[in-house]
Amino acid sequence: MRMPRFFAAPLLLACTLAPATQAAERPEVTAAGKAVRDAVVAWRRDFHQHPELSNREQRTAAQVAQALRKMGLKPRTGIANHGVVAIIEGGKPGPKIALRADMDALPVTEQTNLPFASKVTTTFNGQTTGVMHACGHDAHTGILLGIAQALVGMKKDLPGQVMLVFQPSEEGAPTGEEGGASLMLKQGLFKDFKPDAMFGLHVFSTLPVGTVGVRSGPLMAASDKFTIKVKGRQTHGSRPWGGIDPVAAAADIVGSAQTVISRRTDIARHPAVVSFGSIHGGIRYNIIPDEVELVGTIRTFDEAMRKKIHADLANVATHVAAAHGATADAQVPDSPGNPVTVNDPALTQRMRASLEAVVGSERVIEPPLQMGAEDFSYYAKEVPAMFYFVGATAPGIDPVAAPSNHSPKFTLDETSLDIGVRTLLQVALDYLHGGNAPAGASGG
Ligand SMILES: [Zn+2]
Ligand SMILES: [Zn+2]
Repeated sequence: MRMPRFFAAPLLLACTLAPATQAAERPEVTAAGKAVRDAVVAWRRDFHQHPELSNREQRTAAQVAQALRKMGLKPRTGIANHGVVAIIEGGKPGPKIALRADMDALPVTEQTNLPFASKVTTTFNGQTTGVMHACGHDAHTGILLGIAQALVGMKKDLPGQVMLVFQPSEEGAPTGEEGGASLMLKQGLFKDFKPDAMFGLHVFSTLPVGTVGVRSGPLMAASDKFTIKVKGRQTHGSRPWGGIDPVAAAADIVGSAQTVISRRTDIARHPAVVSFGSIHGGIRYNIIPDEVELVGTIRTFDEAMRKKIHADLANVATHVAAAHGATADAQVPDSPGNPVTVNDPALTQRMRASLEAVVGSERVIEPPLQMGAEDFSYYAKEVPAMFYFVGATAPGIDPVAAPSNHSPKFTLDETSLDIGVRTLLQVALDYLHGGNAPAGASGG
């Protein structure tokens, strides 16, 4: 997931009364969970110790492909640079599903003192930096390998087919490169295998280990970057009337842009954010510069609101600049961005019971909307999908105060690996077996 700093908010316990008919964990899930537990921990620690940045997941992809081959699968490699995909063919007819794990790490210098802490350094944006699995994608990759092993073991009686998607570059490709979910789709991920449903998970510092968080409809924000270049005419600071001042125009744009959300957006429907992250212009105190560049981010939870805010911001920039006699080149957004991550309501309603079966209904929490973004959203635009959070903070530590995802101190309780394996496996098997009767159907 991509986010500034993780947002901690009070969590609501969705349900305190366990329904009398709460489904139980499938015995094969319990058994598989035990059987793959040590391997998943070992995989995760290996990935943790050898993190790789977005679009550079060469070793990780090779390890994943090798592990899949050892299981007897025939992985396809090199999709969207380092993506790895394998299909498990069940012995019985049934639906098609896809399960996704992301594999990339972040330019963060680890400060955890774990025995398997990363010592890796690299160059990123011209700076030397440590590399760390600070978002927990090492856990996701380990979990999906564990599930692969479990499913291969039950292949004969498995209805349908499962596509395993090991995705690179979730955090965003380096400048000038493409990557991640959108590139995998562009390169034909769903061309020959269009899943009926897709599932993914994310370990999450703000939830205690043992809990999972899921929410129907919008879950994580659409994230868009914008660039506004305000062009004036350079002149001496003592004679502003001799030119056009882009600094004054830029200041008014920043001020007026606040009204895009506060005056023109229906924030009673969904929250939204416009933030400026950087302003650059000028070189010396007594020179009014030619140009000022404004860069920022927009977060939204609804496609129509997203488009409207883009248009409103570009409109404010252009017309406020014009009021100053300046011009604005407003690229809103300046790149494709990430769509809002939406959980299919019917699918989420159906599969929630599978999560409850593993952790108990009182431990399935409805988290608040997350301002962070996730490129799982691209798959969810193509097929019904559900993305959920797996609590990662150890017992005894306040999840609100615990170092968040992306922090150099982000520390995941490894019990969350077991929860991740069993919940995602239960979800997959329940779906494939047609369990948790879809909403409106009887029985199940
Ligand atoms: Zn992240
Ligand atoms: Zn992430």
